[in-house]
Amino acid sequence: MLIFERSHPGRRNAAQAPNYTATVSGIPAALLRTDQPLLPEASEMDVVRHYTGLSQKNFSIDTHFYPLGSCTMKYNPRACNTLAMLPQFLARHPLAPDSTGQGVLACLHGLQEILKDVTGMAGVSLMPMAGAQGEFAGIAMIRAYHDARGDTARTEIIVPDAAHGTNPATAVMCGYTVKEIPTDANGDVDLDALRAATGPQTAGLMLTNPSTLGVFEKQIQAIQKIIHDAGGLLYYDGANLNAILGKVKPGDMGFDVIHMNLHKTFSTPHGGGGPGAGAVGVAQRLMPFLPLPVVAKEPPSPPPSPTGRGNSHGVGGEGSYRYLTEKDLPQSIGHLSAFSGNIGVLLRAYVYARMLGAEGMHRVAEFATLNANYLMAELHKAGFTVAFPQRRASHEFIVSMKPLKDATGISAMDVAKRLLDKGYHPPTTYFPMLVPECLLIEPTETESKETLDAFVAALKEIRDEAYATPELMKGAPHTMPVRRLDDVKAARELDLTWKPATNTRAA
Ligand SMILES: *Cc1c(COP(=O)(O)O)cnc(C)c1O
Repeated sequence: MLIFERSHPGRRNAAQAPNYTATVSGIPAALLRTDQPLLPEASEMDVVRHYTGLSQKNFSIDTHFYPLGSCTMKYNPRACNTLAMLPQFLARHPLAPDSTGQGVLACLHGLQEILKDVTGMAGVSLMPMAGAQGEFAGIAMIRAYHDARGDTARTEIIVPDAAHGTNPATAVMCGYTVKEIPTDANGDVDLDALRAATGPQTAGLMLTNPSTLGVFEKQIQAIQKIIHDAGGLLYYDGANLNAILGKVKPGDMGFDVIHMNLHKTFSTPHGGGGPGAGAVGVAQRLMPFLPLPVVAKEPPSPPPSPTGRGNSHGVGGEGSYRYLTEKDLPQSIGHLSAFSGNIGVLLRAYVYARMLGAEGMHRVAEFATLNANYLMAELHKAGFTVAFPQRRASHEFIVSMKPLKDATGISAMDVAKRLLDKGYHPPTTYFPMLVPECLLIEPTETESKETLDAFVAALKEIRDEAYATPELMKGAPHTMPVRRLDDVKAARELDLTWKPATNTRAA
């Protein structure tokens, strides 16, 4: 039901809507609307019950296990949200001068430093507002680097076939041609194909490690040598860092530029497409190209002189913070967002990192890996087809439903829909496309053994149902507010506007 369907002409809530009118003059006639806006008319309780009811229909990490591979809703402690929402942060005006925002700048600077440390990169910019925008920034920096050296014959970016779709899309948006290379039977990059694809035309390689197949690329040193020897740069898709936090650094693997999805790994719930933060980290040689603004820490000002002129920022001897601008970084690729990026996400990430500390980061990586490997082993034992049983999983792994489909006609999509009836959010389906009928499963580091065992039991039940009552499976979900949706129509003909059957409020 829509809020408009609860609407009654003239219904108001007087306490919330004091009767006043304001007039603004001087607006050109062409910009003035000629009829009344269509707004629902409802009482306070109608509105509260409507939206509370909708929120209770949500299938969320607060209510259910959510093993959505790669894009998983990872651990989002409430404390991070509470601290990021402090009124002092919320009420800060984005145009306020740096001198009155030393606290927030100190937090952002602290986050930059932590991310440098965790990734082994020389510099970090927090500005990109999504993983995809971080990728764009990263490849734009690679392009700026080659261009600044007059090395303009490099036209290609190499991308393995297992990559997230945003990788090739980013390369194309930055004006490059994508050269796709295959994955070998172990889930690693095919080195011969990489060698054959690499040459003086190579601007760089985009790699996800651990990959979207859930395995750690063991040949990373050989890969980085092939690319660097050819004069190319290495891009690291760090959307999901939870398996490697505190264990291994992309900088040590030889990567020149990396993006991180702070809304996946660093504590921002991101259902429904936002909000996000795709911070980028770079090696020394890409520092001049970082997107702006970057927060810098200035050394402490000299003590007040006898003439009475002191530290203009009013900050003690610890130094002060300011945003770097084009004057400081004239070769920057520029701004990617208004003001300071998605600052709420950045503050949550800062609190999360400070709460965990170095020791906590190790724990995240260990439990992410342990949970994934436990679940993979249990499903393997139960007779499910694991895509790379010979490999240890990182934070996620793939199960193929191809044998079930061949035997019963029940697809990975049917299994995913039936999982909803059993109280589980489905894993990622049909990605990566290398494995037929695949489910990409990421159990998240904070889930208990009981939850993982119950999930295995649910998948076993569903497999039995596929043989016994396939028509039940084809119609799933049966217990949700909506049944099976036409996802192609939803993507191609998305229509989110409400129009009345007859406009009862026309002026
Ligand atoms: C989620 C994800 C992205 C894209 O991030 P967005 O914030 O959705 O733009 C890129 N690569 C990988 C591996 C991802 O999981």
